[in-house]
Amino acid sequence: MPRVRFYAAALRDELQISGCANVDAVAKTLNLEIREIDLSGCDGALLRSSADTAGIIAVRRSIRETGRKRFTIAHEIGHRILHAASVACTQSEIGNWTSSATNVEREADEFAAELLLPSRELVSVVNRTSPSLQVIQDLAREYQASLSASAWNFCDVVNVPCAVIWSTREVIQWSRRSDSFRFFLRRGSRVPDASYAMAAFRDQQFPTQPEPVAAHEWIEDTRLREHAEIWEQSLKLRSYESVITLLWVRRPIFDERSDEDTLLPELDPEEFTLRRKRWPGKR
Ligand SMILES: [Zn+2]
Repeated sequence: MPRVRFYAAALRDELQISGCANVDAVAKTLNLEIREIDLSGCDGALLRSSADTAGIIAVRRSIRETGRKRFTIAHEIGHRILHAASVACTQSEIGNWTSSATNVEREADEFAAELLLPSRELVSVVNRTSPSLQVIQDLAREYQASLSASAWNFCDVVNVPCAVIWSTREVIQWSRRSDSFRFFLRRGSRVPDASYAMAAFRDQQFPTQPEPVAAHEWIEDTRLREHAEIWEQSLKLRSYESVITLLWVRRPIFDERSDEDTLLPELDPEEFTLRRKRWPGKR
């Protein structure tokens, strides 16, 4: 967990927040007044003098989605806790999950994501069912968070190999992998032709649940087993001209015994007999 997330978790503890956080109330506790303003050129700003603990969070009035507005406020609270000085943040700086985000902006985003979507609560919600975009959408709804922040945090806590990819106009903008998803996904490259993501962009038919596709469509690796499959689910987000994709390595996809495969050990058929090869506690 990035260090700044601990600050957000500590703030939630201190204010005894569980579930969906009331960001307006959090701001008020910190002596920050929220003002919706006709901002141009930026989505949010934190205004404060160094001599005073009080301050103002300005939010662009024309932000449509509640999740985005709440994320912007949480992001500015992050600047207040982490960085002290006044700051103005453009649309491309808030919730920018690409690697081009500056350190300070990424820290405020990580803080905001943890304030809105606490890992400690997510870990049980996410892992009690198999991975899907529905799980991510449910998180966004329950915690009134943006889909992208929910997807980002989903990958942080999911305990099977998954990745989320955000693509716009057929090009991958950012991706996030779970710890056990060890495969490289290239930012800036085109979405694979035979993927459901591409079908979504082209308004063709594609499944609404995770379904297998050839693993080599998404993953370039010489160790891929012949006919290896990876589970994909994609969803078109028309208002963003984007597609969000979930990849799930449901079965081992490498030929040789590699790191990835040892994460998904095959069951020993003699497991429950005296002939079993692996004994608990025995190496
Ligand atoms: Zn910022």
